[in-house]
Amino acid sequence: MSYFDAHVHLMPDQAFLDAHARNVTTFFCNATGPENWQDVLDLSSRVLGVRPCVGVHPWFVGQLADDWSLQLTDILKKYPWAMVGEIGLDATKPFYEKQKAVFTQCLALASHFQRIVHVHCVKAWPDMLNLIAPFRELKFLFHRFQGNEVIVQKLRLMNAYYSTLNAHCLDIIPENRLFVESDAPDGLASPVEIPDLVDRLNLSEERLAYNLELFLHD
Ligand SMILES: [Zn+2]
Repeated sequence: MSYFDAHVHLMPDQAFLDAHARNVTTFFCNATGPENWQDVLDLSSRVLGVRPCVGVHPWFVGQLADDWSLQLTDILKKYPWAMVGEIGLDATKPFYEKQKAVFTQCLALASHFQRIVHVHCVKAWPDMLNLIAPFRELKFLFHRFQGNEVIVQKLRLMNAYYSTLNAHCLDIIPENRLFVESDAPDGLASPVEIPDLVDRLNLSEERLAYNLELFLHD
């Protein structure tokens, strides 16, 4: 049985190699904007098990060049295995109206290219639920999920998965839709810590591995 990090950012290659040595073998590695799309793609071609996600993080919509969506279109065309992430909404950060516009454009591209999306949502659930509603065909991974039971209930209408790095919300996330993540380097320090996290949360490795199969192939 091997482990899986559902959400991580750019790290030195060695962090992923060290994780491999602890049997963490798959990583969803999220870019945050055009300036690191190629870095994540390059990392994924150097290090086994790193799966690239390219998108615009809601914290960084303020600094986008006008042609960002054309650039993202080109990348998704060129890399059919790339997913779309990290994208989303964060009502505690500036440029909230622009966040909504950029998020919607990213969802449209994910839909056009049929890619999985990796989503950040902080204090923006009503807008989130509205904006994703037209995209029933998409598969979503909500990372560091901080919602409540009502939101989980509403998300049952969508193809939604969840990842966490603590016990918060563990009891409301459907067990066949749950992943763990490091969110390294800002969450846990490194994906190396995933096996300890799985232990600490008292989760079944088999269940997590089975969920990953469903997520990738269902
Ligand atoms: Zn992140």
